[in-house]
Amino acid sequence: MQTTRRDEIRANGLHVTVLKEKILDVFEKIEEPLSVPELLKALNRYRLTPHKTTLYRELESLVGAGLLEELKLHDGLRSYELKHEKENHHHHFICEKCSNVIDFNNPQLETLIKKTASALKRKGVSVRNHALNLYGDCTQCSLKTSR
Ligand SMILES: [Zn+2]
Ligand SMILES: [Zn+2]
Repeated sequence: MQTTRRDEIRANGLHVTVLKEKILDVFEKIEEPLSVPELLKALNRYRLTPHKTTLYRELESLVGAGLLEELKLHDGLRSYELKHEKENHHHHFICEKCSNVIDFNNPQLETLIKKTASALKRKGVSVRNHALNLYGDCTQCSLKTSR
């Protein structure tokens, strides 16, 4: 039996709303991090015009339930994306000029993080997850400054 979006939301202990369903639909289709204004624009295409406060509340509960992940950008802005499944775990490069986000992964980095986590475990710390952001200028913004 195929699990529907509603089942997924309910299984994570959340109250099912059309807005939650559509938010997850948008993220699945777009496959990249979105800011709140970008998400609002995408939702408009589904004829949904939620109030910003409502949208923030829904995003917060989706993040809390582990369905979405929140990325804090350099300038205090936030973006959201679908919480990664283990197999497409990755990290982010974030452009400080235009907030462009580029995904990357590095197996050696993962090994190093695992080693670090085991070292911490010996001190009684249990690491469940990690996130890593690199900041700088993306290709387009580098070109603009060197001109
Ligand atoms: Zn940029
Ligand atoms: Zn990692």
